[in-house]
Amino acid sequence: MTPRLTSVDYIKQLIRSYELRVKKRLGQHFMISPAVIERIVDLAGVGPQDTVIEIGPGLGALTERLAERARRVVAVEIDRDLIPVLQELFRERENVLVRQGDILEIDLEELTAGERCKVIGNLPYYITSPIVKRVLESRLKIDSFTVMVQKEVAERMTARPSSKEYGLLTVGVQYFAEVSFGGVVPRSAFWPQPEVESALVKMTPYRVPPVKVADEEFFFDVARAAFGQRRKMLGNALKGIRGGKKKAESDLASVIEAAGINPQRRGETLSLEEMAVLANHLFRG
Ligand code: SAM
Repeated sequence: MTPRLTSVDYIKQLIRSYELRVKKRLGQHFMISPAVIERIVDLAGVGPQDTVIEIGPGLGALTERLAERARRVVAVEIDRDLIPVLQELFRERENVLVRQGDILEIDLEELTAGERCKVIGNLPYYITSPIVKRVLESRLKIDSFTVMVQKEVAERMTARPSSKEYGLLTVGVQYFAEVSFGGVVPRSAFWPQPEVESALVKMTPYRVPPVKVADEEFFFDVARAAFGQRRKMLGNALKGIRGGKKKAESDLASVIEAAGINPQRRGETLSLEEMAVLANHLFRG
């Protein structure tokens, strides 16, 4: 590894010579810890056969290590000002392709031309959930999806039912992928330092979801309603949703009961499996 990309002096020098500004609104906090970079690459299990999509390469510290380990790296950066820096840094690395674009807009499937890939990113925290959602719902063939996120978000993604962190994000992620917590990362691993602690999360997408749902959109409607009013019992929280809407209160309660669930329970206590069974019963009326 070339440690220069993680040196604060070097980063400051790059910023001066390219007349850059660090854009907080784009979540720009650059990685300055070689040890954390190594942890990310190891957690993702990057090897010489891999095509990697990197979300938000910034000034290239993680990109460089990925390029040393992977067959090919496609790095998508939204900030046009960083593109010449990245192009210059990786001019001699034929396996790095730098693409300017918004990860929420870009045609993801086109980046890999249908090949299997690993997706990795030290994410911009202001759009963590939309990025995770977009990648998991895409038609990319993903072996693993490894991200640095705000610590609280990592806790929500990996939460268990009945905990205070368990919610819509948990269900949304765990429906698509097996999720594991990759450890906390201190603020001192970044420059400039973020205001919050960070953590790593690895998602391994399922080829087939772990629960059967009759209708995916409706399943997420039910989850949204169940978590939307956390303190409410299911019998009340689900009143507004399609299927539950036209029913008398007692009907809704009996459908919930028919799913084997006590309508007095709260949404946050339901496992993914229970949420699916409940949504399927409500869907069928
Ligand atoms: N990977 C670099 C590192 O570890 O030092 C930078 C990480 S920084 C936390 C997040 C990066 O994502 C920034 O470079 C930022 O400009 C970029 N970014 C922000 N929004 C983006 C978007 N919608 N699409 C692609 N990149 C984005």
